[in-house]
Amino acid sequence: MSVWDDVVGQPAAVRTLSGAAEGLSGMTHAWLLTGPPGSGRSTAARAFAAALQCPQGGCGSCHECRTALSGAHPDVTLVATEHVFLRVEDVRPLVSQAQQRPSLGRWRVIVIEDADRLNDTSGNLLLKAIEEPPPRTVWLLCAPGPDDVLVTIRSRCRHVGLRVPPVADVAALLVRRHGVDPAVAAFAARAASSHVGLARRLATDEGARIRRREVLKLPEQISSVGAAVLAAGQLVEVAAEEAKEATTARDATERAALLHSLGAEASGTLPPAVRAQVRQLEENQKRRATRAQRDVLDRTMIDVLSLYRDVLVVQLGAEVDLVNAESAQDVERLARSSTPEETVRRMDAIGVARDRIAANVAPLLAVEALMVELRPVRGR
Ligand SMILES: [Zn+2]
Repeated sequence: MSVWDDVVGQPAAVRTLSGAAEGLSGMTHAWLLTGPPGSGRSTAARAFAAALQCPQGGCGSCHECRTALSGAHPDVTLVATEHVFLRVEDVRPLVSQAQQRPSLGRWRVIVIEDADRLNDTSGNLLLKAIEEPPPRTVWLLCAPGPDDVLVTIRSRCRHVGLRVPPVADVAALLVRRHGVDPAVAAFAARAASSHVGLARRLATDEGARIRRREVLKLPEQISSVGAAVLAAGQLVEVAAEEAKEATTARDATERAALLHSLGAEASGTLPPAVRAQVRQLEENQKRRATRAQRDVLDRTMIDVLSLYRDVLVVQLGAEVDLVNAESAQDVERLARSSTPEETVRRMDAIGVARDRIAANVAPLLAVEALMVELRPVRGR
């Protein structure tokens, strides 16, 4: 067993990081871990943090390893934001923390999981901290690509790139870690296009599998503008529901914990000072729910994109596996009833919709526009 077990399909990155942690070569104070969504950036960063604290270089079972991986180690700080940007007030406490010596570990490690969310001001503040690092402090920054962080920050980091892990490796992880049936694991890894978190969700949550199936049926149902608008409404609703499911329980726990820490009762009227803090919490939760809904919607778009990718594969007679092998009949039908040019245009339209949603356009508007684009050409 080792902390690297869950970093699937990344032998090169693991070699680099474990080598540095064991003091063999290339240890430095700032690292930039990049890779596409779902490739396991934050998993790799946590594993590295644990390996740096572990007396055996990342055994995976000692107290140092376990606390570092879970975020409970006093010298490991994990930062992930619910906001669109990491703000100066988010970064300032990290910068002062970085100045402190590790309390009991070998290193003080600060992991920023969304370094791509730094803006110019917070990025420049972080840059100063990275430029003059105390001897036992290590920064681990994660981002989708090297271009997603300020060039000045990037140039001071050692860069480690993750790739999309092979489907078979992701499936093996699901079997080993979550006891998933091998056939379900293989389906989930393929359907999620190797996105580890998404594959885990598909493999372990039947509701998620059903929702995905429903989403993949939508393109077949949009024969008219009316049907397109209806399908868009359905899609946005499914996403909202899934996001709500994911956040509701956590919201309630946080609220209870806050009230408890303020010495207030959950029932009855709250004193004004408590009320203000509860309102602040509710605002943060609302923001998180909005982001969760956008994230779910984006994943849904990727599902639909995978369907058209398969359609194109069939239309071009390419010798590669279908992502949605279980929907082969639908894929065949869509392939017969359109041309490769139309398929490419539809895939572009999905890209446009994803950009719009990322840019905060009202989700329903963006999805309606998309669904209208996905309609069959005949009958327009
Ligand atoms: Zn250990």
